[in-house]
Amino acid sequence: MPFLSTVSESLADALALILPVECAGCDTEDQALCAGCRDALVPRPTRRLLDEEVWVHSALAFEGIPARVIRCLKEEGRTGLARPLGRALRDAILSSDAPGDAVVVPVPSSRRALRRRGFAVTPLLVRRAGFRTVGLLAPARVTADQRGLDRDARARNVAGSLRVRARSAELLRDRPIVIVDDVLTTGATLLEAAGTLRSAGLTVAAAATVAATPRRSSATHR
Ligand SMILES: [Zn+2]
Repeated sequence: MPFLSTVSESLADALALILPVECAGCDTEDQALCAGCRDALVPRPTRRLLDEEVWVHSALAFEGIPARVIRCLKEEGRTGLARPLGRALRDAILSSDAPGDAVVVPVPSSRRALRRRGFAVTPLLVRRAGFRTVGLLAPARVTADQRGLDRDARARNVAGSLRVRARSAELLRDRPIVIVDDVLTTGATLLEAAGTLRSAGLTVAAAATVAATPRRSSATHR
């Protein structure tokens, strides 16, 4: 699977060079991402408390151009966009001030999302951010699509949805973990990931996402 996804990523990158494209952010023709929209992906880091111990660091607000570019990557499979988004994610991961020996663990896509898209969004973003991904978490059961669910329904939907790969957990027993997801919405998925890792005796140091849905009242701007 990792090999296959690398092949399809390279293929999509190659196709992007020969097929006509429109800017993912504003539809300007013949550019995958215009200069103006590239500027809109310059990180403006915010952080939000996930629980008593863990901050989630996010590079961009999930609105306007960044939201369009992320949707283009996820729903249209324009994997070349993972490069500029990965640069923003790198900033969010580094703002977490996680210890140098921290490992980056992506939240896995559901099996259904993986089948639909043909690639796993978050691991790709982590690689483009310049970090090695550690596949410590895996889907444990089928979940409904989180879109359109309210906060409580999202939490119920993801409860028990992840599992820790036992062999990797043994190797990473003493390493701090930075959990990464693409977009922070209610935090239900990241909370579930943190809880699952802690139940396996692992230490969650921080979390990071490319973007976060704006919550003007409680977002802490740095
Ligand atoms: Zn544009």
